[in-house]
Amino acid sequence: MASPKDKEKDRELVKKIAMMVMQGAVMLAETCPICGSPLLRLKTGETVCPIHGRVIMVRSDEEAKEIELDSIVAEVEHYAAQRIRELMASGQPNEILEWLRVIEAGERIRELRERRRIPTREADRDGEKRGKKG
Ligand SMILES: [Zn+2]
Repeated sequence: MASPKDKEKDRELVKKIAMMVMQGAVMLAETCPICGSPLLRLKTGETVCPIHGRVIMVRSDEEAKEIELDSIVAEVEHYAAQRIRELMASGQPNEILEWLRVIEAGERIRELRERRRIPTREADRDGEKRGKKG
């Protein structure tokens, strides 16, 4: 049996979807790769999750893994932030430092991944220039 909290969440989700449909969105057969909610296509043609907003449709296992990792990092950071707030209230500065490190690590992972995603146009141009010689 679902806990009352889960039920509350479900109701929120249904309300959100209903509101989006009323605004002209179409419910799709696909589900969000992160949370499993039904996806909706907006009038603008964008595919969105009612919880996560815009969703990149998964094309490969590789991409699915990337998205999963993103959501794990986000969750860890969220958890760390919550812990820090709790620790601040109870006055345990040593542990706060540890959680700050967790957040820092998350930031770094995200930074590295973002850098990897940017297409390397510079390299292309250089290659072209060199290739034209002759
Ligand atoms: Zn989602």
